[in-house]
Amino acid sequence: MKKFSTLLFGTIAAALLTAVPARAALKVVATTQDLESLAKEVGGDKVETESLAKGYQDPHQVEPKPSFILKLNKADLLIVVGRELEIGWLPALINPTGQITRAMGDVHPQGNPHYWLSPENGRRIGKAIQEKLSAISPADAPYFAQRYAAFDKRLADAEKRWNAAMAPYKGTKVVTYHRSWPNFVEAYGLNVVGYVEPKPGIPPSPSHTFELSQQMKKDNVKIIIIEPYFDSKTPNAIGRDTGAQVVTLAPSVGGAKGAPVADYFQLFDYDVNTLVAAFKAAGVK
Ligand SMILES: [Zn+2]
Repeated sequence: MKKFSTLLFGTIAAALLTAVPARAALKVVATTQDLESLAKEVGGDKVETESLAKGYQDPHQVEPKPSFILKLNKADLLIVVGRELEIGWLPALINPTGQITRAMGDVHPQGNPHYWLSPENGRRIGKAIQEKLSAISPADAPYFAQRYAAFDKRLADAEKRWNAAMAPYKGTKVVTYHRSWPNFVEAYGLNVVGYVEPKPGIPPSPSHTFELSQQMKKDNVKIIIIEPYFDSKTPNAIGRDTGAQVVTLAPSVGGAKGAPVADYFQLFDYDVNTLVAAFKAAGVK
């Protein structure tokens, strides 16, 4: 079994730092396209990156493929989200003898793992990647520091744009399918009053859907945010019952239908623009 460095932002500490021989580029594998994009921002041409899950897949429920093992076998660094986001599919690939089971029910037992969906957390992830790459390849530390500083500045500029676009909608009540958006809504002051899923990872039930519709009518909720990998049948039915619009946002880089959303910046551009258009169409201010 190949050993590689692991960078994990959840509850488990980073493990297995191995020295790598000097060469053109470090091979970085990230479990998601968001982490891959941030690794590219910081690593520049000193890294070659790959992701395992694609942004249009539910990151809790990815089907492991033989190609994942090939990618992992070549990796110098594996970057994972943690908080058990990947527990259903990654451990078997990196430790075939280990037995890992997901707790029944709630897929967020260790806190919400969708934390990349706020620019401030993107900045934190970028910083952690800079530190890890510098530890693995100390000769390139000044390069990674310069790349991080440039990323930080571009992100600060972009945040001004996103904040300005979202400012009129502070306090707007919305419903989301999965609990993917707590960091996103906090960043822009939106107010989530309910979820299509009764609990994270638990499909909607008729009684929960009824209660949610009643709540939405009471709160005059106009927007239901859904992720591209969930069945839209229930949210559409709730929309018909309550008059709310169903809006599919990209929960990850690569996670929009019909739009490239090729990097971390495009992810927020897409979600902010899509949401603002939906708010306007629904007559929210
Ligand atoms: Zn989740």
